[in-house]
Amino acid sequence: MGNYTLKCLQCGCEYQGDYRLKCDHDDSLLRANYHAKQLALKKTQGMGKFYDWLPIHEQLDTNAAPITYKSEELAREFGLTNLYIGFSGYWPERGALIKTCSFKELEAHPTMQRLKESGGKAVVVASVGNTARSFAHVSAMTGIDVYIVVPRCGLSRMWLPEEPTDSIHLIRMAEGNDYTDAINLADRIAQLPGIMPEGGARNVARREGMGTVMLDAAVTIKRIPDHYFQAVGSGTGAIAAWEAAIRLRDDGRFGNRLPKLQLAQNLPFVPMLSAWNAGRRDIVPKIDMLNPKKHIDEMYADVLSNRAPPYSVSGGLFDALTDTKGLMYGITNDEAKEAKTLFETLEGIDILSPSAVAVASLIKSVDVGNVAKDDVILLNIAGGGTERLKEDYSLTKIHPIANAKNPDVPLEELIQPDKYFGAGAGLLEFDDDECER
Ligand SMILES: *Cc1c(COP(=O)(O)O)cnc(C)c1O
Ligand SMILES: [Zn+2]
Repeated sequence: MGNYTLKCLQCGCEYQGDYRLKCDHDDSLLRANYHAKQLALKKTQGMGKFYDWLPIHEQLDTNAAPITYKSEELAREFGLTNLYIGFSGYWPERGALIKTCSFKELEAHPTMQRLKESGGKAVVVASVGNTARSFAHVSAMTGIDVYIVVPRCGLSRMWLPEEPTDSIHLIRMAEGNDYTDAINLADRIAQLPGIMPEGGARNVARREGMGTVMLDAAVTIKRIPDHYFQAVGSGTGAIAAWEAAIRLRDDGRFGNRLPKLQLAQNLPFVPMLSAWNAGRRDIVPKIDMLNPKKHIDEMYADVLSNRAPPYSVSGGLFDALTDTKGLMYGITNDEAKEAKTLFETLEGIDILSPSAVAVASLIKSVDVGNVAKDDVILLNIAGGGTERLKEDYSLTKIHPIANAKNPDVPLEELIQPDKYFGAGAGLLEFDDDECER
């Protein structure tokens, strides 16, 4: 059964496709090998058109998909003749209908579907924002239960374009806990029967979902781009773009060269940039992550703060950068803010802060001559259109069902909150926005 197998990139072991996240023998990422070597698009509006290269059996029921268009204004500003924008967000004028406004939703649809097909009852996610919102939205659409653990400051991003459903269980960490504490609590919840971890970069459904940005670009441009620009936090999206490009190369109709990954982190928290520039596969915390709490606090695009990115692991970001002769940039808050204004003015759509970091890295790359004028460039605007969305929808807040004092709190208190807290009432008194930067 199945349209794919999973292959370990280290020992070569193959597994039948199920919700497996790890090899039995080592720590490497697994990669999906699809029976279909050539991509035949399905006739549907949403990301399900890439069904051949998604690790699912039943077709997806969503109109969410990335779009690709050729830039005129921004391209002219930089003197580029083949600048393409990959946009994941809400921009109906261009056919972009991702109502949670980031490419995280492209991960959530196939992940929830794969979970359901593997017999899972619920998925658990730890997130500071965009991922949590995406999984909550897909839960509202499909009725599949999701447990979401957010640190205190993640709550302001927990809105939906529809009424929240009972299938969404939002757990908020109390003050003094950070993203790592949220991850630790989520790991404990994932031990409960029927609940599966979303798996992060280890989950091929997440990578393949994000990889559709590259697929959409290649079928639109009719070739693999020469360069791929993205702001990275975990690097999963860039790994996904690399894997999608490998598949396109093997397809044979899109050229035989992989795109050069040109990736950006937001200063001062730049562990992957620091390790990559030192030529190291390993991230050494004492060198690459000095003062993480302080540095993360100072970031404009805090969505990009990941302390344990899949960088060193086989098949991870170090391998992706090496294979594509990639480059990394460090972007200051001011550079990102300036780039945001420039992009929004020229292209006419609002973008999220990480995407501003991506635009700033393109500016840098052009300045130092890392792209040539006529090169085919894909700029991944991985999030945008939230202001545009507000013109068409009224957004609702998701309320927490429980407040976790710390990552070791007894799980019964969280998972059956009605028993302990009376349907989560009493918990709504927390102030939501006090930690917005
Ligand atoms: C998550 C996110 C990123 C970073 O993606 P990674 O896969 O974590 O590197 C960039 N832009 C936006 C809008 C995001 O939501
Ligand atoms: Zn292995």
